[in-house]
Amino acid sequence: MTFNELNIVPEILNALSKENYTTPTPIQEQAIPAVLAGRDLLGCAQTGTGKTAAFAVPIVQLLSEQPNKPHTGRRIRSLILTPTRELALQIYDNIQAYSQYTQLRCSAIIGGVSQKAQERALKQGADIVIATPGRLNDLVNQKCIDLQYVQILVLDEADRMLDMGFIHDVKKIIAKMPKKRQTLFFSATMPPEIASMVKSLLVNPVKVNI
Ligand code: AMP
Repeated sequence: MTFNELNIVPEILNALSKENYTTPTPIQEQAIPAVLAGRDLLGCAQTGTGKTAAFAVPIVQLLSEQPNKPHTGRRIRSLILTPTRELALQIYDNIQAYSQYTQLRCSAIIGGVSQKAQERALKQGADIVIATPGRLNDLVNQKCIDLQYVQILVLDEADRMLDMGFIHDVKKIIAKMPKKRQTLFFSATMPPEIASMVKSLLVNPVKVNI
């Protein structure tokens, strides 16, 4: 299997070959076609399996095929929630790499650094936001971020977000988004609270276990 056979567009194929990705990993083979087809996804996968590209590559492709309209400007069309700053910055770096030959812009919203710089970046516009729940919720409460145009939501390492006490923030953030959207949900374990979120957030998901 090649990325070409997964119907990845040339500008993303070029970015992947520049990053020395030759063949998709098993989770990528399963997830990429499902995400490109607009399906919800439930993934049980650990870091190190190529999980990030499994969701990030098809998101970049879907959004780049649907350019921003000049009269509306750039709107946040995908939000990726992840438990730690380190993971958020890794995902951000990966998405910058995959989208380097597209017009898309992404922004990282994480705690522990100046909020002002993040507010300025958001004012300039982002198509994809990668965030930790605490800081993002602060920005939502201060009405510094508009989530009403989010089409694709990713919950990465949902069980860790639960363990770290972020679930309340996550639920408040999700309430600010359209109900009609695509949701990609990743969790290594399935405790009852996570299982009930899966049930309420996902519609007929494709399940990927690695
Ligand atoms: P992840 O599981 O998303 O943290 O990815 C683990 C590592 O594998 C990262 O350094 C990725 O850049 C790399 N990677 C992901 N997919 C591929 C691929 N198809 N080919 C080569 N490296 C990859």
